[in-house]
Amino acid sequence: MSSGTIFDIKEFAVYDGPGIRLTVFFKGCPIKCNWCHNPEGQNPHPELMVNKASCISCGQCKEACTQEKCIACGKCITCCPLNLRKICGYTLTAEELAEYINDKSDYYAKYGGGVTFSGGEPLMQPQFLTDTLSLLKDIHTAVETSGYADNRIFTSVAEMVDYVIMDVKLIDSKLHLKYTGVDNRIILENLESLCKGNTKFVVRIPVIPGVNDNASTYRSVAKLIKDAPMLEQIELLPYHKTAGAKYEMINRKYEPIFDVNRPVFINQDIFSQYGIRSAVL
Ligand code: SF4
Ligand code: SF4
Ligand code: SF4
Repeated sequence: MSSGTIFDIKEFAVYDGPGIRLTVFFKGCPIKCNWCHNPEGQNPHPELMVNKASCISCGQCKEACTQEKCIACGKCITCCPLNLRKICGYTLTAEELAEYINDKSDYYAKYGGGVTFSGGEPLMQPQFLTDTLSLLKDIHTAVETSGYADNRIFTSVAEMVDYVIMDVKLIDSKLHLKYTGVDNRIILENLESLCKGNTKFVVRIPVIPGVNDNASTYRSVAKLIKDAPMLEQIELLPYHKTAGAKYEMINRKYEPIFDVNRPVFINQDIFSQYGIRSAVL
């Protein structure tokens, strides 16, 4: 049985599918969205996170470290008097993760929920994901994905779960490349498969000011999915300025190439015109 790396498990999630849910965040993402609010989910390996804003520069962590470049060994964690350091990400087996979820399944079922596999990009660890899914007992399952995955992996996971939350960021391939670092051909192909499939799904648009918050993008997305029988709704996720908060903690710079202060343009009427229900989260 396989093992994989996750970086968080969130209890009582209310925006990750139907009902109240347990959300498991897989570590590693093949995309680099310029607005990513979970940058610690991008690197597939465990990494050091430091709450630098509260640091009193006591120097104890430096004394504990013998490395020139951080290897996420964790030796400096316990010496911080303010508990500001942690290793983000840990490895566990599919059995361990499934057992953890199965132990809580009755509780989440009572509230119409289940488990959601998110990230990062859960499809980047396909064996770990499918092994975990195959070990789950009677619990509603969802996957939240960027759609940037091999089509065979994408469709087999979509068939295994009860619900798919798929991000669609931009339809224009050049803009997609500019803002995420990858071309969107593979994502649009997977979206097409999802539209033809038998699994309930929602399309989620992270609404980024000046990037995709325009009638043309909304209309293009609506046209692509309007006839999909299993489509539940479109969910709009307006950009929030706090998105950059975690970059410093993992020693990276937050460098948005769009105007973070511009209010986002939302227009749900466009979706209604195509007979699609929409919600702003
Ligand atoms: S985790 Fe801490 S002790 Fe280990 S290499 Fe990184 S900075 Fe040094
Ligand atoms: S041990 Fe903690 S408080 Fe001291 S310098 Fe390191 S991070 Fe800052
Ligand atoms: S797909 Fe999600 S996790 Fe990956 S970079 Fe984009 S926002 Fe971040």
